[in-house]
Amino acid sequence: MNYPKKFDKCPCCGSTKTIIAEETEEQIVLGKLPEGSRIPALVTQSQIINMQDKKLIIARRSFPMILGFCDICSDCGTLYCVEVQRATGIIEPRVGGSPSGGNTSEPQFPFGKG
Ligand SMILES: [Zn+2]
Repeated sequence: MNYPKKFDKCPCCGSTKTIIAEETEEQIVLGKLPEGSRIPALVTQSQIINMQDKKLIIARRSFPMILGFCDICSDCGTLYCVEVQRATGIIEPRVGGSPSGGNTSEPQFPFGKG
């Protein structure tokens, strides 16, 4: 699949205006945010990983992730995905992990682009 995937219209009403993007643009024009700033209303992250793979918690391993950036339609209020990107997550082994050896590692930010 090719990324990023962009969805530039509200799936409900067809509007191309979104609230967070417009507010962000206003703040950029006012000089309160740097050029190119991007603030999503919501980011979803799907880790494409086999959580049963015990090797993942022993070594620092990377795995693909899919990030979905959502915004809110200015005209009808629908929250929808405006862009999907591929990224790379990394599992950091936890120092001084639990004595039971349970899986306590979680993906850590920041994610690199995939
Ligand atoms: Zn809409």
